[in-house]
Amino acid sequence: MPAPYHKILIITAPSGAGKTSITHHLMNRFPVLAFSVSAATRQARKNEKDGVDYYFMSEAEFERKIALKEFAEWEMVYEGKYYGTLKSELERIWALNKVPVLDIDVKGALHIQQQYPINILSIFIEPPSVDELKKRLMSRGSETEDSITARINKASYEMAFKTHFNEVVINDNLPHACATAEALVKKFLEDENRK
Ligand code: 5GP
Repeated sequence: MPAPYHKILIITAPSGAGKTSITHHLMNRFPVLAFSVSAATRQARKNEKDGVDYYFMSEAEFERKIALKEFAEWEMVYEGKYYGTLKSELERIWALNKVPVLDIDVKGALHIQQQYPINILSIFIEPPSVDELKKRLMSRGSETEDSITARINKASYEMAFKTHFNEVVINDNLPHACATAEALVKKFLEDENRK
């Protein structure tokens, strides 16, 4: 496979569309991919580790990093909760000669695309329906009712942006969506014109 230097893979979707499962599948399939660990100010969930799932930090620390322009993109994804991709995280992964995989929200993905317009593949994962999305969020057991409502409202809005991305993969069947995404990523990683 050619040197992957400075490529970026974005997997974006409304929350609950299955992008994390698809991202895990792709990471297992392609060792050259490295998960881009975001900074976040929300509480860590059970089983989440600092520096692995997120760089968990206080609001003050996050805002200091915004002021110092340390983020490639950042968003207040939910009321009062910041999430962002650190430039240092992308540099860390590129230095390993790997390709960062960004599992980020739709607005953040649009910002990354504007800032890094070449060597990028963005895949929007489309949930089969809002009802199905609600079911998936409820089955997680980790969300409060308010958080589920906020995520559903946000998802309906985010669906409008799907045409801004390179590819749309409908997740009505997870193995099928994984296979479709895998074929797209394989082509992207092998494309020597995108390096
Ligand atoms: P969760 O709280 O469920 O881990 O993530 C909530 C949302 O924030 C998800 O849609 C996730 O993809 C998104 N997200 C995670 N990291 C980032 C980031 O660095 N930037 C942006 N814009 N969104 C992120």
